[in-house]
Amino acid sequence: MIVMKFGGTSVGSTDAFAAVAQIVAQQAQAQRERPGLVVVTSAMSGVTNTLIHAAQAAAGGDEAPYREARNQLLVKHQVVAGQLIEDNVERANLGRLFDSRLREFERLCRSIAVLGELTPRGLDVVSGLGERLSAPLLAAVLRAHGLRAEFVDASELIITDDTFGSANPIWAETERRIQSRLLPMVQSGVIPVVTGFVGATEQGVPTTLGRGGSDYSAALIGAALGVDEVQIWTDVDGVMTADPRMVPNARSLPELTYEEMAELAYYGAKVLHPKTVTPALECQIPLRVLNTFNPAHPGTRIVMRSQTTSPGVKAITAIRDVGLITVAGRGMIGVPGIAARTFASVAREAVNVLMISQSSSEQSICFVVPQADSPQVVDALQEEFRQELERHLIDSVGSVEQIVVIAVVGSGMRGTPGIAARVFNALGALDINVVAIAQGASEANISLVVSEADAVQAVRAIHDAFQLGGA
Ligand code: ADP
Ligand code: ASP
Ligand code: MG
Repeated sequence: MIVMKFGGTSVGSTDAFAAVAQIVAQQAQAQRERPGLVVVTSAMSGVTNTLIHAAQAAAGGDEAPYREARNQLLVKHQVVAGQLIEDNVERANLGRLFDSRLREFERLCRSIAVLGELTPRGLDVVSGLGERLSAPLLAAVLRAHGLRAEFVDASELIITDDTFGSANPIWAETERRIQSRLLPMVQSGVIPVVTGFVGATEQGVPTTLGRGGSDYSAALIGAALGVDEVQIWTDVDGVMTADPRMVPNARSLPELTYEEMAELAYYGAKVLHPKTVTPALECQIPLRVLNTFNPAHPGTRIVMRSQTTSPGVKAITAIRDVGLITVAGRGMIGVPGIAARTFASVAREAVNVLMISQSSSEQSICFVVPQADSPQVVDALQEEFRQELERHLIDSVGSVEQIVVIAVVGSGMRGTPGIAARVFNALGALDINVVAIAQGASEANISLVVSEADAVQAVRAIHDAFQLGGA
């Protein structure tokens, strides 16, 4: 059995939908002896952003964006239906469905405008609507291509806690629901077409898994069904040595380990949602990243152990919109518990720490958090260390913005000397200042902080230093 997930650009236009239908039809044909296919889809590209911006504008009292979005989204989906679905009944049914979903969107935005407030719970209802439009559309397009496909809303399958905006699946219940709902369909030769990104609490309140979370949906479904492979169909030839938008000569990687992929995704390689690797790894399900617009390309396989031993660095990634927090002071030397108190405070704010570095003299601890959380963390730490600040044991608690974390990733770095030297030589040659450095104990990653202005040049320089680019 195989799960095929199609991202936003893969369902971004009529041509893209047609390409997806062809890819699915080919897979179904290859499996005709033993059918076993589940499709997961994102919203059409740009739709989730449109929905979110409209809801935010409504909360600020501006009702024009949601009215405009309603019409724009109706047209966007209807154009695809009009061009790819000939059956009048199917088209009429879809038209009614689009209309009812978009009326719901309008009603929600109107209430948000009346209340003047957008709660995380409300935002999840709105932002999940894109998948609830694209998945029934894709199911109908597949039927128009002669396949037996049926739409399934993942709020029936993926049961989560109520951490709106980034909900955590409750695994036992999710696994049970996925199996009991999808297995009978698959066994009778039907292809379920499931909404990515969305889930619901046990009480049925809609949630989402976080931006880009459709990859995670696919991995959860794949793990629950114990499939042979989860395929992530996107708009590039697999996972590359760097973001091709930043490094034009980036190359596609034939194979990566789960560990390497997890590092890359965690440090901002948008091609896979960071949580995707966990269920796949736990159930040992291979992941494959493929290109909808170049389906003949073998893409990237993500596996437990790499068959090809490539020493050293595999890929470089950069994560933006982060802040570097520093707790510094000569009085910290030898005072136990500063680090523990620092990170306990950060944990109380429920903020994710991306990287930590402490100088050996213990004069400073610095760590990286998402930029949006940085003011809140600084406030919390100033409160925590009020006495130490007054007594000048700690000189300052502050943050540096407009920085970027660059991660140099590869399991083969382990035990290969000289990697760090090459990284820093490459940056030194360009006079790029490194603000902080950290290396994970796994030695599969060196991360460093540089200023935002140097980021692109730094990533390209490291990429070149390890000759990662194509010819
Ligand atoms: P989808 O809509 O299919 O989920 P995304 O936009 O979320 O696609 O992810 C694909 C994009 O990720 C690519 O177009 C590319 O610009 C970006 N990307 C960032 N880092 C990498 C990388 N190391 N390899 C491949 N793509 C990357
Ligand atoms: N549509 C959602 C988003 O834009 C989820 C996804 O595309 O994976 O974040
Ligand atoms: Mg994505």
